[in-house]
Amino acid sequence: MNKEAAVTPIFVQKSQFPIINFFNYSLFMKLPYAEPYRIKMVEEIRQSTQEERKQWLKEADYNLFNLKSSQVFIDLLTDSGTGAMSDQQWGALMTGDESYAGSRSFEELHETVKKITDFQYLLPTHQGRAAENVLFSVLVKEGDVIPGNSHFDTTKGHIEIRKAHAIDCTIDEAFDIENLHPFKGNINLEKLEEVYKTYPKEKIPFCLITITCNSSGGQPVSLENVKAVKELSDRYGIPIYFDSARFAENAYFIKKREKGQENRSIKEIAKEVFSYGVGMTMSSKKDGLVNIGGFIALNDENIFRAASNITIIYEGFITYGGMAGRDMAALAVGLNEATEFEYLESRISQVEYLGNKLIEFGIPVQKPIGGHAVFVDSLKFLPNIPREEYPAQTLATEIYKEAGIRTVEIGTLLADRDPETRENRYPKLELVRLAIPRRTYTNNHMDYIAVAIKNVFDRRDEIKKGYQITWESEILRHFTVKLKEA
Ligand SMILES: *Cc1c(COP(=O)(O)O)cnc(C)c1O
Repeated sequence: MNKEAAVTPIFVQKSQFPIINFFNYSLFMKLPYAEPYRIKMVEEIRQSTQEERKQWLKEADYNLFNLKSSQVFIDLLTDSGTGAMSDQQWGALMTGDESYAGSRSFEELHETVKKITDFQYLLPTHQGRAAENVLFSVLVKEGDVIPGNSHFDTTKGHIEIRKAHAIDCTIDEAFDIENLHPFKGNINLEKLEEVYKTYPKEKIPFCLITITCNSSGGQPVSLENVKAVKELSDRYGIPIYFDSARFAENAYFIKKREKGQENRSIKEIAKEVFSYGVGMTMSSKKDGLVNIGGFIALNDENIFRAASNITIIYEGFITYGGMAGRDMAALAVGLNEATEFEYLESRISQVEYLGNKLIEFGIPVQKPIGGHAVFVDSLKFLPNIPREEYPAQTLATEIYKEAGIRTVEIGTLLADRDPETRENRYPKLELVRLAIPRRTYTNNHMDYIAVAIKNVFDRRDEIKKGYQITWESEILRHFTVKLKEA
């Protein structure tokens, strides 16, 4: 049942006793949100000096992925696998069943996934990109096109490594950071139909909807848009898959922002969203609330069979696919917790809290604030750094130097080179992402981050130079790129 809808306080029911207005003062003040958990174990993190950080940055070739975690005070590199598990999840770890085949923990996970998504077949994988590898091995061929809303980097990688193409059909509003569109992850139906008209059906194995859409700023996709994409795709005979890493956060935004959805539970909304697709890939390191894992869930038996073969080759037997039994057990619990409204409210309020602080300081951020991260617009923040010198990377290194906060570039380094021309691809936005790990930091940390970024903002005119690449890999270069000061 929908818990939050059930708690109507008695004194607002019908005015049988008008005298009740007597209480119309602070008693009715809206209570601030507080985390629906308390902390049982803490982990020490350490400050460092600016001098130390400058030296470490140089040793890391100005690539923040090369820093040691001990050189970082607050780590906002990613919300992937960096969250805190609950006591229930730690308990589940102890009861995990490590059988090679037919493990009870697999059964628990399978039942949970069926309950949440209604997809009947489950293939665990070691993480989200492995799910992409397995599914795309079956579905994607050279020369294919995969339309969708700003594909995630590993997703695009798995498409391009197969000499296929990802086509971004995200609505234009997503690329204007000041535009307050409530669903900036939505797909533009005209752009999508253009793809369906341009390419023959055989070249379009599926349309991929990413919920929420990370690359456009952790922005949600509305239920209405999912339905419309489904209707259009049906007319052209194209199935829909979901890249579902943050499906619960997406459902939260639907509940909060979409008319008619406010009284439904997160689980009901998520299930309806999934009902418009034929399958999904999942990175359990996000809304699975675990530190590692992923899966594919789908309904087509033939695709499941073919994907099972690939799973066995690359991941492991089909009832564990690269995961320990205990990790599947913790994931089953995590999926249930992540789809509770109270949890999502506290998680997303914290991200919003940080975003609002930055807005108060006049810092240009993607609005509305996304579900898992705040995105800072480096082109507005550092207008003097040319795009050839990677302004978002420059800003990320300055934030680290300032206060030991590690963030990540979502800009030209991430966008990689065009696979054919080998030219830099300049995305519409050049962002620094502050990804907030789940249940990990307090709002004091958020205050610290906000002030650190304000300090960089106040000295932005002194930042005159960016970076040049000295070495890069063929694909997904941002993870290992080496830079020097320009
Ligand atoms: C994280 C993520 C992936 C890849 O998952 P990994 O677990 O990191 O391999 C794919 N798509 C989206 C939207 C993601 O956020």
